[in-house]
Amino acid sequence: MTAPVSRETEHQPAAPERDGDEWRDAVASALPSTDDETPLAQELASDARRRLRLHGRVFDRPETTRILTVANQKGGVGKTTTAVNIAAALAQGGLRVLVVDADPQGNASTALGVEHHGDVAGIYDVLMDEMDLADVIQECAEVPGVTCAPATLDLSGAEIELVPVVAREYRLRRAIDRFVAGAAEPPHYVIIDSPPSLGLLTLNTLVAAREVFIPIQCEYYALEGVTQLMRTVELVKQNLNPDLDVSTVLLTMFDGRTRLAADVAAQVREVFGAKVLSASIPRSVRVSEAPSHLQTVMTYDPTSSGALSYLEAAQEIANRGVPGHE
Ligand code: ATP
Ligand code: MG
Repeated sequence: MTAPVSRETEHQPAAPERDGDEWRDAVASALPSTDDETPLAQELASDARRRLRLHGRVFDRPETTRILTVANQKGGVGKTTTAVNIAAALAQGGLRVLVVDADPQGNASTALGVEHHGDVAGIYDVLMDEMDLADVIQECAEVPGVTCAPATLDLSGAEIELVPVVAREYRLRRAIDRFVAGAAEPPHYVIIDSPPSLGLLTLNTLVAAREVFIPIQCEYYALEGVTQLMRTVELVKQNLNPDLDVSTVLLTMFDGRTRLAADVAAQVREVFGAKVLSASIPRSVRVSEAPSHLQTVMTYDPTSSGALSYLEAAQEIANRGVPGHE
């Protein structure tokens, strides 16, 4: 038998739970708006609203582990920055995330503060010696929920050493799939940081992933390299990994004050449509400073606009991974 509903609660909607999503939205909307003549105050108020809406929010969990490779063969477009900050943001949303550093530069390992000097086991050992991924993974001390399989310098040799190896394109996929299948608590997300090239390492990441996540820097020629990447993705899909799809595009280092950035953004949205996240990442000194403190911006300066943007982007990604969300 169901409990009787009291007269009071029968006709009144329940007050939003404090700290619940509705409560956050209500408080954020209640913040007074500012007029256009005070841009700084306006920005602060807007950031305060975004912070209220996002901080402490628990993201939806995907039904199975989502494996994304962050790829763009153009150098310096924000691949690593995006990989580590989206990983940290997803973890701050309550999810378990494994970052696989497949770039010999080891920048993702640095930003996550994990050891990756010569004596440390890393992705090289996984690819060349079939070491278990579980045996090279380290915890990221700054962000609970994030783990990382580091890249050491010897990984640069793998590009050539892999050439004669049997099933050389499938090495990373096998390692990740075996790890996910055998883990007591598998990660909700595996995010792979790939190098700025289309060699065997990048090929391994495209075969291992189910989704390609392309960061695009808002500058001249932004789309030129992407055309080549799209061709490679198509070839991989036809020959090696039929499950692969470009699922996500993120505009990085966006400077809203310039006409160029707006033009590039419009062009990217025309080409990729709904794959482009609504959130874009602003050019921000705090974002670029964070790695030198062995941190992501999500812990280095969580209230900065860069961190907020990555949190918004992560929430969009999480929403898209769950049926029922648009
Ligand atoms: P590579 O191709 O060498 O691997 P990448 O595509 O991984 O490069 P990043 O290393 O993430 O690119 O970024 C390149 C540079 O731009 C770095 O110095 C980084 O700190 C800086 N950067 C990335 N995103 C931003 C941002 N939103 N604001 C300011 N600087 C940024
Ligand atoms: Mg990089």
